[in-house]
Amino acid sequence: MFLGSGREVGRSCIILQTPNSKIMLDCGISVGALGKDQFPIFLSDFDINSIDAIVLSHAHLDHSGFIPYLYKLGYKGPIYCTEPTRELTALLQIDAIQLMHKETGKSLYTISDIKKMIKHTIPLRYKEVTDITSDVRLIFENAGHLLGSAISHFNITNGKINIIYTGDIKYSISNLFDPAFTQFLRSEAIIMEATYGSPNDISPRLEESEKEIISIVKKTAERGGKILIPSFAVGRAQELMLIFDKYDIDVPIYIDGMIYDANSIHSTYPKYLAYNLQRQIIDENDNPFENERFINVASGREREQVLNDEKPYIVIATSGMLNGGPILEYLKKFGSDNKSTLIFVGYQAQGTLGYKIQKGEKEIQLHNGKTVDINLEVRTVDGLSGHSDRKQLLNFIGHLKNKPKRILVNHGEVSKTLSLTEAIQKIFNIEAYAPLNLESMRFL
Ligand SMILES: [Zn+2]
Repeated sequence: MFLGSGREVGRSCIILQTPNSKIMLDCGISVGALGKDQFPIFLSDFDINSIDAIVLSHAHLDHSGFIPYLYKLGYKGPIYCTEPTRELTALLQIDAIQLMHKETGKSLYTISDIKKMIKHTIPLRYKEVTDITSDVRLIFENAGHLLGSAISHFNITNGKINIIYTGDIKYSISNLFDPAFTQFLRSEAIIMEATYGSPNDISPRLEESEKEIISIVKKTAERGGKILIPSFAVGRAQELMLIFDKYDIDVPIYIDGMIYDANSIHSTYPKYLAYNLQRQIIDENDNPFENERFINVASGREREQVLNDEKPYIVIATSGMLNGGPILEYLKKFGSDNKSTLIFVGYQAQGTLGYKIQKGEKEIQLHNGKTVDINLEVRTVDGLSGHSDRKQLLNFIGHLKNKPKRILVNHGEVSKTLSLTEAIQKIFNIEAYAPLNLESMRFL
């Protein structure tokens, strides 16, 4: 049953019930939503302790953000995820608590609930086979989306039925990760994401995006401007660092915000990175995240110095949609500077400051009421997303070792889930459906 993420992006939460057990797949919040719509839908007769185990696909809050609240409610069972997912989840949840306090003066849960969650976490490696209940065996495989992100393969009642839950997947090469795993020995049913499931969702080739960024950087530096890149702390920031590490550009690169902490977690778990990057870090002892070209801005005083630096530089700073974080300090200072450039590399949700600037607003208001004139060049570079575009989603199905009998499509806006469903039926002749929230599906 889908308690969230049915024909929507956000609050991923699915209950998988077998003859002997009840397992929860992810339990996230909807970051952009308001009121009750932020959380998965728990009906009044729902008993949290009827859940035998939680399986977490990856750290993003739309998959993990509600879990500490379940522990606060008294859930005492285990949660299965990879080691890096455990670390990144805690990092993002602690940040979420701070944000909730800032916005509403209170938070859904506290650090002690996050600690409870960590204590109940059973970390699994990719390909490790584990009996998580008496009739369910779990195997994680690489999802290519985020550090530690996993596709969950559920082998139920001794292999009678195999259900694959993709979580979020990237089925193409990125600098950080290898493409998602497809060689499942058996798969009767697949639950898959459709974030970019519509025919208009076409992402450019990685190399094109990289070259575009480098060319914008060079042009801006030549005219003496600064390059501001708002970015999420986890994933996109590291992908950008790898791009700047690969191309030779003679401009200092500052990183500001939680990115430094996220870098350390990437450095701790190189085995979860793309094969070539692993070899570079482990065999050649050359860790790009520790390259001295990247200068961490560790305090307000250091930031002040960077802000007053006269020469051109790149700054990668949080938050990705400009709805907070140190990037705003750089925007305040250089927003009106027509020599500088702001590069968007990620999705800008409606209502955020990033969205307004991307749409071309020339005068924006910050939370403190201060107005900033926007005269700097504003550019958007696509192709660095951790998600698959439409073609990659269809390629993922096309390359599966065994074609499933059924595919359930979730984690996408209504039109995208329906459009992908239709395409799957037409191209592969596989029964496909996009369930609604609170809808139950039977596999046996
Ligand atoms: Zn995600």
